Amino acid sequence: MSETTTTYVDKALKCCEPDCKADFTWTAGEQEWFAQKQDPNSGKPFEPPRRCKTCRERLKQEREYLVSRGWIQERGVWKDPRATGESRLKLHVALSTQRARDVQK
Ligand SMILES: [Zn+2]
Repeated sequence: MSETTTTYVDKALKCCEPDCKADFTWTAGEQEWFAQKQDPNSGKPFEPPRRCKTCRERLKQEREYLVSRGWIQERGVWKDPRATGESRLKLHVALSTQRARDVQK
């Protein structure tokens, strides 16, 4: 076991969501946590976060919402397995429904 003396400092990042683009801080603590983890799929360290906390939280809620509706994710695209042809819902329809619901709360 070699001792690492890496010191992490807070980094300023920009959110990749087109309708957000907020500046956010990738804290030293989070970087340290990231450095200890590996992507189980690629075996490589995780990429730095591309979204701010608000967007990550929102996407997490959207994912839970879609899963609760029985949607499945295929190669990064959400699909309603029961929908066919014309009735196949597009992802953004479901998401805007969810967003509208959030606004109404
Ligand atoms: Zn954001």
